[in-house]
Amino acid sequence: MTPILQSHIAGRWLGAQPGQLLASAVNGRPVAHTHAESPDFAEALHHARTVGLPALLELDFQRRAAILKALARHLLEHKERLYALSAATGATRSDSWIDIEGGAATLAAYAGIGSNELPSGNLVHEGPALPLAKQAGFAGTHVLVPRHGVVVHINAFNFPVWGLLEKFAPSFLAGMPCIAKPATATSWLTEACVRLMLDAGLLPPGALQLVIGGTGDLLDRLEETDAVTFTGSADTAAKLRSNVNLVRRSVPFNAEADSLNAALLAPDCTPDTPEFDLFVKELVREMTVKAGQKCTAIRRAIVPRTQLDALCTAVRARLSKVTVGDPALEAVRMGALASRSQQRDVAERVAQLAAGNELVFGERDGFAPLGEGVSEGSFCAPTLLLCRDPLSSERVHDTEAFGPVSTLLPYDDFDEALALAARGRGSLVATVVTHDRATAAEAVASLAPLHGRIHILDRESAAGSTGHGSPLPSLKHGGPGRAGGGEELGGLRAVKHYLQRAAVQGSPTMLTAATGEFVRGAAHVEQERHPFRYHFEELAIGQTLLTHRRTVSEADIVAFGGISGDYFYMHFDEPAAAASPFGKRIAHGYFVLSAAAGLFVSPAPGPVLANYGLDTLRFVKPVAIGDTIQARLTCKRKIDRNKPDQGVVAWDVEVSNQQGELVASYDILTLVAKKPAA
Ligand code: NDP
Repeated sequence: MTPILQSHIAGRWLGAQPGQLLASAVNGRPVAHTHAESPDFAEALHHARTVGLPALLELDFQRRAAILKALARHLLEHKERLYALSAATGATRSDSWIDIEGGAATLAAYAGIGSNELPSGNLVHEGPALPLAKQAGFAGTHVLVPRHGVVVHINAFNFPVWGLLEKFAPSFLAGMPCIAKPATATSWLTEACVRLMLDAGLLPPGALQLVIGGTGDLLDRLEETDAVTFTGSADTAAKLRSNVNLVRRSVPFNAEADSLNAALLAPDCTPDTPEFDLFVKELVREMTVKAGQKCTAIRRAIVPRTQLDALCTAVRARLSKVTVGDPALEAVRMGALASRSQQRDVAERVAQLAAGNELVFGERDGFAPLGEGVSEGSFCAPTLLLCRDPLSSERVHDTEAFGPVSTLLPYDDFDEALALAARGRGSLVATVVTHDRATAAEAVASLAPLHGRIHILDRESAAGSTGHGSPLPSLKHGGPGRAGGGEELGGLRAVKHYLQRAAVQGSPTMLTAATGEFVRGAAHVEQERHPFRYHFEELAIGQTLLTHRRTVSEADIVAFGGISGDYFYMHFDEPAAAASPFGKRIAHGYFVLSAAAGLFVSPAPGPVLANYGLDTLRFVKPVAIGDTIQARLTCKRKIDRNKPDQGVVAWDVEVSNQQGELVASYDILTLVAKKPAA
């Protein structure tokens, strides 16, 4: 019996009556039905707001990061269940690897970002605070906090797992309950992934709901604190983002739509260079991975007119080796499109693109999908077109055939190539293949305003390149204009998209209380014992030590020069130093730093386990022979990464001179032991 997919709404699985039949992309056999029942979206939102949100905010950034890590591990342990279901979407094993393991890797990457780059608690201090008045008592800073709303993630059909996870990970980290709506065509795979995630028992209740089928009145019910993300066609993006309720309430709408991504072969890459081969490989790879159903795939290959014949020959030779068919067969390198309707859509777009242009490679070149029942599948021949006059064509720059389809666009000089790339009116990614540094620099400056990511490929980067078409968790994914105008991924940036920024003004003491991070000028916490003698839990933000003083002598400078080997003229050459803006010899900045450590360190063994670095170091004023320095060490920030034995403590260090002027300023980062368990 064909299974009926279910939505997961308000903590329950919903769906017993069959709705739309979803067929295998490989052989047309039934895979699943959607369910016919309509979810109650008022109930879904109420559940997210009243159950999901409090449960998520009960945790903090660090705990949510730990959950993402465990979830990634769980999905990898059960990945074969997903691989088994992925085949019917038309994906080969390596296509599915991008989707399934790429999705789990994205969860793991966001776990790392959360744990390393976010604080404990649910507030990010985007400092430093700025003094706003001549008197010390008034300052301003920025904070980022969870939006206290729900996010609706609407996804495309091409990456049923990765699409869900790359949006879920940063929004979960930011503390937003999520309602995920996969594209119907491949929703059986997303449903299986959500079941795995929920069954793991790791997620707080209400953190993730799933909608199979339409979204009904969901968008009409969203509120000011909510958000929507969308991946799919530019037309749907335009329709959804103009939803009256979203517009009226200024609900953020992040779109990632189809784009006419380009790859440019620069003039230095003649057929005898390794770059020429790299271009051919990259183009064919992008045409055939996921049967070209990638929002990032190369749709326009912009190449020197002088290399056109050589390129056509090389690409034809490579494409003719691509075996198309049932991904279950070992020989198969390219699978099917996701559905018959996509197959029709791509055929229509190819016909539009072919009008007035030439076919370099296509169905006539031996296209015969392998496998049983494939005539009922959704296969499409790799198709390479040639538009000889791309400057006067509109269609090649705005018609996207979402399949294994690309068009060669010849240019006469590189400025023309860059102008052609810009005709896409905004793309997710462009690749520039060149081994010439000036060309690369020119291309980046020209392409960046209209491209979300620029990939420079040459013999040096090739071995490690992650490829034109791969969005990475740590780099921005999304592009301007036609590509939707949105941004996803990009490391911490993606989490910040789901947080709300506010400026906060007040006294440094109040800013310290509000941000949980010491702001200079705030009241100090004086204790009898040295701050290094306290365990992690005992330390208070603002706890401080004002050290004894030390007068810097010439002997200090000479000794430090001898130890470090730093004989810079400012420290050792009297006449040269006299002629400098300082007018005299001064101490090494690193001596001041080292001397400050000597002033504030408590030498005996204690809870401070290690000093692992410095941040924001500035030598603000010179220290001359005879100056007297003093340090103030203040507990600035504590991060509890939920390790049983230690936490991270950042200390604010101010070094000042005998006039009380700041001479050096920095944070030191330490690991501090927690109290031993009783
Ligand atoms: P659509 O834009 O039609 O659909 C994308 C998502 O939006 C799907 O989940 C779809 O759901 C949903 N959706 C559609 N209409 C509504 C609505 N009125 N309210 C709420 N949700 C809605 O794209 P397709 O997936 O059909 O693909 C069409 C084209 O989009 C492709 O040919 C390609 O050009 C482009 N595309 C771009 C991608 C990208 O990553 N940028 C990825 C995939 C496709 P449902 O499936 O239920 O209709």
